[in-house]
Amino acid sequence: AKSSGGNRVEFFRPEMDVGVSHRLNLEHEIREALAAQQFRLLYQPQIDAVTGRICGVEALIRWLHPTRGVLPPAAFIPMAEESGLIVDIGNWVLEEAARQRAAWREIGVEDDVVICVNASPLQFRRGTVLPTLLRLKREYGFDSGFLEIEVTESMLMDSAGRMIEDLMAIRQLGVKLSIDDFGTGYSSLAYLKRLPIDMIKIDRAFVNDVTTDPNDAVICTTIIALAHNLGVKVCAEGVEGQEQSDFLRQQQCDVLQGYHFSAPVLPDVVTDMFTSGRRF
Ligand code: C2E
Ligand code: CA
Ligand code: CA
Ligand code: CA
Repeated sequence: AKSSGGNRVEFFRPEMDVGVSHRLNLEHEIREALAAQQFRLLYQPQIDAVTGRICGVEALIRWLHPTRGVLPPAAFIPMAEESGLIVDIGNWVLEEAARQRAAWREIGVEDDVVICVNASPLQFRRGTVLPTLLRLKREYGFDSGFLEIEVTESMLMDSAGRMIEDLMAIRQLGVKLSIDDFGTGYSSLAYLKRLPIDMIKIDRAFVNDVTTDPNDAVICTTIIALAHNLGVKVCAEGVEGQEQSDFLRQQQCDVLQGYHFSAPVLPDVVTDMFTSGRRF
């Protein structure tokens, strides 16, 4: 017997195999989706808190599923990580982001506007990120401010040695590095000194209530001060309202991202923002 939630007891039934076959199915579907080009990247603008200009965009993956509609990352990324397919997805994401960045360069988007790409720890453990970036650099000839890789704190904590070498090499290529979901992972801050980090992204859990919860306000201002003392920029994620935006600007937060400015949108929509010189 297997207990699950409350005081209910579930007994194993043959139907539970559905879970396993569903997973195998999803794995198979993800492979097909890669081949059939069913993945897309949406882009969410990141706003320079001082100038109000778009200083970067975060690439966020979606799956245009043939029967189930547009699937968010939560519907398939966990499975992709479990099966190792995240490595192939991650390579596709890097390639597509680089292609899009080059296209924006063609229409005159300034060199310091980065596309931020989420990377999974497994891509680093398998050692695929650096070779892919080398290939993309040869293909597009980018310099600094083209791509930025977002990694999580927990990733920085595991298997330190090799990972740090890779991160250093990535930085040498002119690719920037940021720490995603800052404040939610391990609390060791030692890596902030050791690693070549360009930006810290404060998790939206702290940003949401920054104007109503004094604890969250202290956390945000402290992270900003800490980062600035180490020469690292700060991005606040999940900015949903004017008050949060005002507060974070007052606190010298460098970059703002969230629904208050824009949801993740199709590349053409961002292109229009770039060409119209839109300010926020
Ligand atoms: P994340 O990296 O923390 O991305 C931010 C998430 O917050 C996105 O969800 C975004 O749509 C959402 N968001 C943006 N502004 C706001 C806001 O103002 N309020 C709220 N409540 N949410 C906001 P999304 O697109 O569903 O992505 C979820 C997660 O999936 C990402 O979290 C990231 O961890 C992962 N992910 C997305 N794309 C990729 C990818 O290409 N590769 C990998 N490995 N993971 C990805
Ligand atoms: Ca992210
Ligand atoms: Ca995040
Ligand atoms: Ca909170």
